[in-house]
Amino acid sequence: MSNVANEADPILIAGGGIGGLAAAIGLANKGLKSLVLERAPKLGEIGAGIQLGPNAFHAFDYLGVGDAARAIAVYIDNLRLMDAIDGQEITRIPLDDAFRARFRNPYAVIHRGDLHGVFLKACEDHPLVSLRTNAEVVDYDQDENGVTAILKDGERLKGTILIGADGLWSNVRKKVVGDGAPRVSGHTTYRSVIPTEDMPEDLRWNAATLWAGPKCHIVHYPLRGWKLFNLVVTYHNHAPSPEAGVPVSHEEVRKGFEHVAPVARQIIERGQDWKRWVLCDRDPVENWIDGRVVLLGDAAHPMMQYFAQGACMAMEDAVAISHVLGEEGGPLDEALARYQELRALRTARVQLQSREIGQHVYHPGGAHAALRNAVMRSKSPDDWYDIVSWLYGSTGLEGAVSA
Ligand SMILES: Cc1cc2nc3c(=O)[nH]c(=O)nc-3n(C[C@H](O)[C@H](O)[C@H](O)COP(=O)(O)OP(=O)(O)OC[C@H]3O[C@@H](n4cnc5c(N)ncnc54)[C@H](O)[C@@H]3O)c2cc1C
Repeated sequence: MSNVANEADPILIAGGGIGGLAAAIGLANKGLKSLVLERAPKLGEIGAGIQLGPNAFHAFDYLGVGDAARAIAVYIDNLRLMDAIDGQEITRIPLDDAFRARFRNPYAVIHRGDLHGVFLKACEDHPLVSLRTNAEVVDYDQDENGVTAILKDGERLKGTILIGADGLWSNVRKKVVGDGAPRVSGHTTYRSVIPTEDMPEDLRWNAATLWAGPKCHIVHYPLRGWKLFNLVVTYHNHAPSPEAGVPVSHEEVRKGFEHVAPVARQIIERGQDWKRWVLCDRDPVENWIDGRVVLLGDAAHPMMQYFAQGACMAMEDAVAISHVLGEEGGPLDEALARYQELRALRTARVQLQSREIGQHVYHPGGAHAALRNAVMRSKSPDDWYDIVSWLYGSTGLEGAVSA
């Protein structure tokens, strides 16, 4: 198989989420044309927040959207971990000049819609990217000369490669990996975005704050130039089936947090229009490739959100696929294998550690929580920086798991 640079058909990308659009613009910057096929009638993202480690900024710069992303981010001062039972601070990780010097970039929070909009604008402005909505990829065929994406209405579209960036419930993955439905974690997350004036005044911190309690946790941080606060609260209630974005009553959200300190509980009271997700992830796998078809983002490595890295990993994937197809050259099968080699171990580590963090840091109670507090309080900022250096220090192109 030859590489794609000289071929007439576009690279097909199933899914116009953050991962799919990031891949499209990364490929376009290397002179490679793509056609993004999005199932929804409109390209967009839900109105919640997202945290971005410095590795996201390494990816933004590589993808040519660094200035646009930096302009809309909120730069927080700390990652703050609180004990939701006694209301005391456990630890805080400063995100100051020392952090930025160590990782060459900041830590920030951003509105998902705004971040998606940065990629969308870059794609719309680039002549090598085409975007189609109402285009659900349900299957594909391939032969020596190319791949065909098959849409729900039966239309067949020819391409050189098909990138499955179609998220947690990926149709493309069904054929590439065939490992059934995602694992239902039993953790239920409720999300709300509120005006800053509705946030309790004593908690309007310029931090990504996490209140950790037995089988539950609460996260909040400012968004959109401090006009909004993002609230994400999670309850390990053994929910049996997956859900996404279901509107729920205030009463239901309260139930999971009756045992936490009033200072943390007041956050629940301030939320509005709560929506419910039952979280899913998967075990890491080693087969992201089927001939000319390859997976990216949540389709390849869906993870719990506890490391706040799912979108960051999708953007790093976009960097890696652009790099191998646009710069390394060589036969296509070798380029795709190289992409997987660059990404698989690193994303597997984030997938598995995201689960671990939930169990050992965010949700313990009793003696387990006391041990967590003691261990975490014993660490200096430099200790923390060492712990996350494999993640934040890497551009995702180093391949393995160390910085
Ligand atoms: C509560 C919560 C908090 C999170 N917080 C963070 C955070 O702070 N930081 C972070 O980095 N990550 C976070 N994440 C993870 C992050 O949201 C995801 O990892 C990221 O959105 C994955 O991007 P993606 O493009 O791979 O998939 P998606 O965002 O799922 O996009 C897939 C796109 O494909 C479309 N689609 C689906 N199927 C098809 C098909 N068959 N054909 C065509 N189109 C299709 C969908 O409509 C969608 O537009 C969080 C996740 C959750 C649930």
